[in-house]
Amino acid sequence: MSFNITDAVAEIKAGVRVIPDFPKPGIQFLDITPIIGCGHLFRQTVDVFKERYTQQKVDAIVAIDARGFIFGSALAYALGCGVALVRKAGKLPHVTYKTDYTLEYGSNTVEMHIDALKPGDRAIVIDDLLATGGTAAAACKLVEQTGATVGEVAVVIELTFLPGREKLAPYEVYSVLKY
Ligand code: AMP
Repeated sequence: MSFNITDAVAEIKAGVRVIPDFPKPGIQFLDITPIIGCGHLFRQTVDVFKERYTQQKVDAIVAIDARGFIFGSALAYALGCGVALVRKAGKLPHVTYKTDYTLEYGSNTVEMHIDALKPGDRAIVIDDLLATGGTAAAACKLVEQTGATVGEVAVVIELTFLPGREKLAPYEVYSVLKY
């Protein structure tokens, strides 16, 4: 039986759990743990990405700490490429590139090993969710510091009422689900 993306997306969307007022009042947290906790939904999600990226040249998956690691490593396995980790500051043992970005309150730093990608590599940056785009934009900056290029930013969930997609332009964004 062939893989039907429309059916898969509907099933995946039904698996997202919406938690009101987490981690603070007014925020609707979109919880992907029911998806990764279900073998069928996890596979469907990875297969949606796989369907898209088997048709492209992909040299590496750049996975964002922490939920991006889950989807990123499964996708890399499916495509037969490696994973480069974008981690919060202080976690990576070797020499890193660093990028700061602003959050609603304060700022954050992410890092990637200087040799995680090769110059000329085409990388797909992946996370569970795109909100303001600050995290993904920082990851893209790290990719460029290595001399690799960002093929696309891929997320399971895109919050379309926030300007994440605009912030990432001219990079393309691919999202499985839109809210
Ligand atoms: P941003 O940098 O604003 O695009 O935020 C993206 C990061 O924050 C992702 O790593 C998400 O896991 C997390 N995040 C932001 N907003 C939400 C939300 N409403 N529900 C779940 N995760 C979120």
